[in-house]
Amino acid sequence: MWTADEIAQLCYAHYNVRLPKRGKPEPNREWTLLAAVVKIQSPAGQTCDTTDKEVQVTKEVVSMGTGTKCIGQTKMRKSGDILNDSHAEIIARRSFQRYLLHQLHLAAILKEDSIFVPGTQRGLWKLRPDLSFVFFSSHTPCGDASIIPMLESEEQPCCPVVRNWTNNSSVERSENLEDSKNKRNCEDPDSPVAKKVKLGTPARALSGCMAHHGMPGSGKIKPDVSSSNLTMEELAAANGIAPGSFRVADVYRTGAKCVPGETGDLREPGAAYHQVGLLRVKPGRGDRTCSMSCSDKMARWSVLGCQGALLMHFLEKPIYLSAVVIGKCPYSQEAMRRALTGRCQNIVALPRGFGVPELRIEQSSLLFEQSRCAVQAQRADRPGRLVPCGAAISWSAVPEHPLDVTANGFPQGTTKKEIGSPRARSRISKVELFRSFQKLLSSIAEDKRPDSVRMQKLDSYQEYKEAAAAYQEAWSALRRKQPFASWIRNPPDYHQFK
Ligand SMILES: [Zn+2]
Repeated sequence: MWTADEIAQLCYAHYNVRLPKRGKPEPNREWTLLAAVVKIQSPAGQTCDTTDKEVQVTKEVVSMGTGTKCIGQTKMRKSGDILNDSHAEIIARRSFQRYLLHQLHLAAILKEDSIFVPGTQRGLWKLRPDLSFVFFSSHTPCGDASIIPMLESEEQPCCPVVRNWTNNSSVERSENLEDSKNKRNCEDPDSPVAKKVKLGTPARALSGCMAHHGMPGSGKIKPDVSSSNLTMEELAAANGIAPGSFRVADVYRTGAKCVPGETGDLREPGAAYHQVGLLRVKPGRGDRTCSMSCSDKMARWSVLGCQGALLMHFLEKPIYLSAVVIGKCPYSQEAMRRALTGRCQNIVALPRGFGVPELRIEQSSLLFEQSRCAVQAQRADRPGRLVPCGAAISWSAVPEHPLDVTANGFPQGTTKKEIGSPRARSRISKVELFRSFQKLLSSIAEDKRPDSVRMQKLDSYQEYKEAAAAYQEAWSALRRKQPFASWIRNPPDYHQFK
């Protein structure tokens, strides 16, 4: 099998070696977030669901993404040529879709070795049984999974002072570095929130980033304690707090706000600030975004798969992740579980092939070198502001142009004049992924095409998406379940392009 540290190590090495400097953070001034999809191959004769720890598997990064930004509503375009959401997880997932399209091309057109083998129905493919995919992220996804309880000991009201750490982490948690309200919460030492936080013992953080920095109090922490499968009681014990004598003093906050029109956060001081389990929208720079938080999008992948609607035309079953691995950062196993799969239980009437498969969720003890936390530690007391890197890097395991670096949703360096021209499109934009999909489809002989695209005349992106019947049925089933009913969908005119 594999360990969380092996997955993290592989992704960090891939980032360092395979990604060029372009699009990476400027040293000592900028930081970024990293996500990736890792292909796991079991040895011959073994299926991917083996749990034997001794079994040696092959691991390979097949897609990677970096990025911290999300464009506001007013910047959205009906032509499908801008990336709305450039959080690392979303870039890694779109890059993964590009990889899947290439693998389908290998299988269906070139008849070469591929991750896909023929399915039972005409024109449909299925994943080879010895393969599975692990999702890696250097940080907890924004939104619900980032609402992490901080424990406070009732016996020891003077827990280690963790202000530095708190500043780092809260900003990282909020993801929205331009959100002034959050900044005030996290960085004003005199605000009531900051004072409260000072007393708290961030459950996972103590064995995380802080220990790495050698901050006060870190000596108390057992470094080999992995919180991965611990309950709140055990976590407290691991952090030197007697069982039964702690309370949740506060929560790490997410900058992602609840979707409009729903009962939202209580915004009361301390632990009552956030409501958990809700859908959230990513923050923007003054301009509201229409992008759901990464926690929400990943929950959706747990039910609908990672391939999206278009690719479903070619697949017998959705492509599910078998595991999610998170790098060293504030982390709560409970919050991760709740956000990614807990909210998706007992969905009624999912079509055949869909479900909510078991998802292994683990944390690695390895820190991403260009995370906010690591950069902050490296630069020590240098003057100047630490800022999130504005660029997003996409990498896919494809032979041609594996890299795609964007800023503000367009290829880096795009001038205002060029916007709208074919060269001003990211390879992972909606319109370009749609183009690759159409190219694949048109290369397949008419009588070999899947029924869903052979029996009817389809034209626009919207029509192709809607024609993926099982996928749409599963999506409707998910939206009948709370909290997913309030998912913000882009108006249909944003999907009319051809
Ligand atoms: Zn995010």
